[in-house]
Amino acid sequence: MEKEQEIYDVAVIGGGPAGMMAACRSAELGAKVVLLERNKALGRKLLLTGNERCNITQANFNDKEFIKKLGKNGSWLFSVLAAFGPRDMMEFLAKRGLKTKTEKDGRVFPVSDRAQDVLTIFLKYLEEKSVKVMCQEKISGLNIKNKSVESAQLANDRKIYAKAFILCSGGATYPLTGSSGDGYEFAKKMGHNIVAPRPALAPVEIAEDWAKAMPGLGLKNVGMRIFLDGKKQESKTGDMIFTHYGISGPMVLDMSKKIAELALAGKVAVEVDLKPEMDLQEADKWLQTEFAANANRDLKNYLPGIMPQRLADLFMELSKISPKKKINLITREERKKLLVLLKGLKMTARGSMGFEQANITSGGVDLAEIDSRTMMSKKIKNLFFAGEIIDLDGPTGGYNLQICWSTGFAAGSNTGLGK
Ligand SMILES: Cc1cc2nc3c(=O)[nH]c(=O)nc-3n(C[C@H](O)[C@H](O)[C@H](O)COP(=O)(O)OP(=O)(O)OC[C@H]3O[C@@H](n4cnc5c(N)ncnc54)[C@H](O)[C@@H]3O)c2cc1C
Repeated sequence: MEKEQEIYDVAVIGGGPAGMMAACRSAELGAKVVLLERNKALGRKLLLTGNERCNITQANFNDKEFIKKLGKNGSWLFSVLAAFGPRDMMEFLAKRGLKTKTEKDGRVFPVSDRAQDVLTIFLKYLEEKSVKVMCQEKISGLNIKNKSVESAQLANDRKIYAKAFILCSGGATYPLTGSSGDGYEFAKKMGHNIVAPRPALAPVEIAEDWAKAMPGLGLKNVGMRIFLDGKKQESKTGDMIFTHYGISGPMVLDMSKKIAELALAGKVAVEVDLKPEMDLQEADKWLQTEFAANANRDLKNYLPGIMPQRLADLFMELSKISPKKKINLITREERKKLLVLLKGLKMTARGSMGFEQANITSGGVDLAEIDSRTMMSKKIKNLFFAGEIIDLDGPTGGYNLQICWSTGFAAGSNTGLGK
């Protein structure tokens, strides 16, 4: 090491939600911190979250319930969630002037509906705590000496020296935002096992052209059922949206992992249920009552009253009932055809859209090799992990960002460096 080289207490790699939280927390505790980011600016992915509104966290303050939502690895998060959970995150933001609101299913957003406002809080805080932010610095590896990390390798043979390193380089999904899986390679070289990364929370590709012909059409509170070779596998209710390649939206993203798995095993069909609160018989009764009350209207004038126009057009096309037909002339068979579409609009799922478009990477640094209280590597003594790089992920609803806030806070709290 050159004599004049500056040594930081903590070097944080990756300026996403986990890295910014880890850097802020380390600096708050008095450490001299550098935050290294390959992009021109911090928080590129954060700005895209929640359709640019940022679903910051989940107002489910019961840690057990929260953890249950994360699946089989969830209980690993218990300590760090207890130390810094959703309520703490909301207080953290409120203290710095950001008001939040809670929407359907406990999803917490900024009142302003702007992800930028969440990022601004962090940018100000990093500045206030004198964190040195170095953007456009791509780390190509971590250099090991005496079983600990000595430095982070930059381009042109430059190095950043620090006493502790927090690796927050994200997963391998949405690589355009900077997270291309580099951290997995660094961790692997340092002896860590990487649980095979897989795309999760991804849009679903649909075969039928009609499904791709109505991008932007959103449906709220509908049901969705998945079938493998005709056998029902799973069902959910929620919101979805049609896209240029198929379907997306919170309910679809949450089912995408299952769809991707099933698509490897056979033919996968999805059915959208526009009346999930009714069974088939109830829906038929409801339709008959509707028909009686609208007996003299044309089908083309009636249907858009109970569903979006583009869907009404599709129903008329798929049922092959003339749009001009009066409701009181619709036969029993024709009514059944409409009922089948209403209760189970069927599509063929080709699978989920993969790393390029998935919101989350499932898999990552093996949790068995990280101390679940401190986020310290069990292999390398001055190395810590936080955020999506670790083998933990959750459904939509603010769970994934909360994993970043909690693990980033824990890593930043536990380097043992500072005044
Ligand atoms: C479209 C979209 C919407 C989402 N919406 C939500 C939501 O509303 N709520 C929610 O809870 N979750 C949401 N998520 C998930 C959430 O964004 C991620 O869980 C979160 O950003 C992960 O944070 P991170 O800090 O671990 O990684 P990232 O945000 O990916 O940040 C990692 C950073 O490390 C940098 N980096 C990587 N490699 C290097 C290197 N070699 N050198 C230097 N820097 C490097 C990257 O450039 C990047 O800035 C969404 C994801 C997507 C894609």
